Amino acid sequence: MTPATILTELVAMTRRLGDPAMDYAILGEGNSSAGCDLSTFFVKASGVSMSGIDEKGFVRVCRDPILALLDRPSVGDDEIRDGMMAARVDTRSPIRPSVETLFHAYLLSLPGIRFVGHTHPTPVNSILCSRGAEQSVSGRLFPDEIVCCGPAPAWVPYVDPGQPLARAMRERVEAYRAEQGIPPRIILMQNHGLIALGGSVKEVESATAMAVKAARILIGTYTLGGPNFLSDENVARIYTRPDEKYREKQIGVGDGQ
Ligand SMILES: [Zn+2]
Repeated sequence: MTPATILTELVAMTRRLGDPAMDYAILGEGNSSAGCDLSTFFVKASGVSMSGIDEKGFVRVCRDPILALLDRPSVGDDEIRDGMMAARVDTRSPIRPSVETLFHAYLLSLPGIRFVGHTHPTPVNSILCSRGAEQSVSGRLFPDEIVCCGPAPAWVPYVDPGQPLARAMRERVEAYRAEQGIPPRIILMQNHGLIALGGSVKEVESATAMAVKAARILIGTYTLGGPNFLSDENVARIYTRPDEKYREKQIGVGDGQ
């Protein structure tokens, strides 16, 4: 895919994720990104609404200088902002990258990950803003959730936005990869929101839609005694079953490898 095609796909994905009818994000909430080539990526500009966004709402940035900011110790907000502005491919452009550009740079460096969609869906945040959030998302509820959202989500406890969040996310996602052997398809950020990642816009949108449906179902389970999670054996079997792999292909999700 050329950079222009990637940007066109990213714009279309972001508009669909930002559609007010979906209730995934309102106003300036959420952001998205796509890997452009080995050294650069597109990320949403700061403060732009996902709904109705166009090509001008994205900025192309260099990945390595952003990843270097992630590693810099005790860095201030101003330094991060200046570093992100300096990492733009077109430094004459007035567009400021999203404050969450740091975690997008990290996620797009994972194997097979080319698109990232971050939203604040109301059903998901109803759970993530609850006292029992971490425990309530510790299991899988139904087979299609496993097919679209992977065997488990990665969980990130609440920390300040910007560099602290990106560092905490990297730590949690690396632990997830060590345990599961694959990158997560869904990241849940406590008191904040959802991230879906994948090799295509379809994977990101399928994972987002299914995570939102799973959140509604999870909330519903608390009216009848709480969630009845599938066993680890059941989850592992669905995740590796050949017919489920076939279904993944049919609905356009897969491990992107
Ligand atoms: Zn957010």
